[in-house]
Amino acid sequence: MSKGRLFVISGASGVGKSTVLNEVMAARSDLRFSVSATTRAPRPGEQDGVSYYFVTKAQFQEMIRQDAFVEYDAHMDNYYGTPKAQLEEKLKDGSVILDIEPNGAFAVRKTRPDAVLIFIAPPSLEELEKRLRSRGDTSQDQIQLRLDRAGWEMEQSKQYDYIVVNDQVQTCAQKILHIIAKSCDEE
Ligand code: 5GP
Repeated sequence: MSKGRLFVISGASGVGKSTVLNEVMAARSDLRFSVSATTRAPRPGEQDGVSYYFVTKAQFQEMIRQDAFVEYDAHMDNYYGTPKAQLEEKLKDGSVILDIEPNGAFAVRKTRPDAVLIFIAPPSLEELEKRLRSRGDTSQDQIQLRLDRAGWEMEQSKQYDYIVVNDQVQTCAQKILHIIAKSCDEE
């Protein structure tokens, strides 16, 4: 189907995953980013078609009906999914990074056993809570929901190929770049 490798990156909301991923993408212009579809509302600064495809619940359900997703999951009150067509298109050009949570990661691994699963962990759950609070765009209920979810994600991380702790963005990005370079060399 394609020549590229798939890198699945997961990490709890607030772990700093987007910042780390921006560093990684800036360092490797050959990598493509898989843009997911979601029913959640855009956060300030998020652009449709760049961060996510922002769709309605009805549109998302129609995509499910048309078998348009590689994987999808409902979590934190919203749907998130990886559109099949754009992923296949991007894989023709090279390797692709997916920013998805563990259920999606394991679903991808089933269809693409060669996918490399990387989990970005916070230094601790206390530190994660501090980061979520400082973000200021999330309500108390949402913070608790995200912390509960983070605990579950940390459990799932045991099944990943790599766990990288994000205590410093540059160091974390360098470690991920090293994993990507090594995995591409293995081909
Ligand atoms: P956020 O709402 O903070 O952008 O993302 C919440 C969670 O949804 C994150 O863990 C993110 O990795 C995950 N996510 C984003 N896109 C997808 C997707 O297409 N599929 C799945 N399974 N999870 C996704």
